[in-house]
Amino acid sequence: MKLHEFQAKELFRRYAIPIQHGAVVERPEQIDALTLKYPVVLKAQVLVGGRGKAGGIKLAQTPAEAKDRAAAILGMSIKGEAVRRLLVAEAVEIGAEYYLAFIVDRSARSLVAIASAAGGIDIEEVAQKTPEKIAKSAVDPFLGFPPFAARTLGRGIGLGGTLLKDFVSMAAALYRLCHGEDAELAEINPLAVVNGRLLAVDAKVIIDDNALFRHKDLPKNEELTDLEQAAKSAGLSYVELDGDIAIIGNGAGLVMATLDMVAHYGGRPANFLDVGGGASEENMRQAIEIVTRKPGVRALLVNIFGGITRCDDIARAIVATPPPLPMVVRLTGTNEEEGRKILKAAGIDAFIDPQEATKHAVTLAKGRG
Ligand code: GDP
Ligand code: MN
Repeated sequence: MKLHEFQAKELFRRYAIPIQHGAVVERPEQIDALTLKYPVVLKAQVLVGGRGKAGGIKLAQTPAEAKDRAAAILGMSIKGEAVRRLLVAEAVEIGAEYYLAFIVDRSARSLVAIASAAGGIDIEEVAQKTPEKIAKSAVDPFLGFPPFAARTLGRGIGLGGTLLKDFVSMAAALYRLCHGEDAELAEINPLAVVNGRLLAVDAKVIIDDNALFRHKDLPKNEELTDLEQAAKSAGLSYVELDGDIAIIGNGAGLVMATLDMVAHYGGRPANFLDVGGGASEENMRQAIEIVTRKPGVRALLVNIFGGITRCDDIARAIVATPPPLPMVVRLTGTNEEEGRKILKAAGIDAFIDPQEATKHAVTLAKGRG
């Protein structure tokens, strides 16, 4: 889960990483109530990078100018994301820009510290054009990130004296943050020189989704649609797409294969829902209700390979929750006979071959288009 800059900076503050004074506003008038020293910098809070280049970061010399610019930025949409909040921070005069990050490197099977003497620009660009400006150091999880490793990294990007000292303590704090908050990325870009000291002018933190249960205090930044929310609270994994065929399957692999088959036969999935292994009758009823509620859906394709999931449970749920649109069922596996009997009694013929079933669903959706 990505954090907004102001949320990441709240973590920085807790871990004693130096940042500018600032506050978050949602409306320009709120700037009047802030007790910040001018000039200030106004920063769009969106979960995409490159806000500066996109015009989402502006300096203002006076409260009047700040409100004007705030109104402009709050009306913007950056890379498709509407700006709803602004971070207003005391502007600083930047001497030089460096880069520091910890990121999970799967091939190294550890966190890796990355530093660069070319801050303020994307690290991917630096890696491509001037790789010699980057210093890296893999972190041994049993040792953590000791000061000698931080000093080596800092010297590697040409730091010495007070700046090196600042760098060592900031790197140690950023590592503690990663470890303590289960971050898969913590990035400071630019790590700026301000009055001869290092300051985190920007902050980017991504928390490992698998560890979110350990961080109930963190803000929720996922923006779920109503249906995604309904599925989540029912414990079902549901994803929205933009076609017209709703898909229910059991197991991620089967569902992915079903999506591919639909595309192969010229159809477009509207969404997909994985009822998982051992889905109960109740799970299946909720699943049908959720996927068919999406506007624009023209057909429902149910692809079940019974294992722990029992075909008769699935069949009972289908009969109890007749979908409001044409449906195609492919049913095979555990308790298949019983499942088919239940469907047959309700006038539904289930397919055994998934490709036949998919072809039929695509035809039905097209027929209604
Ligand atoms: P990003 O574009 O989304 O990465 O946002 P940043 O927070 O990194 O800001 C982009 C650029 O704006 C920085 O690299 C700085 O050059 C500039 N900037 C941001 N804050 C300040 C500030 O307080 N003073 C000055 N002079 N420049 C700033
Ligand atoms: Mn930045």
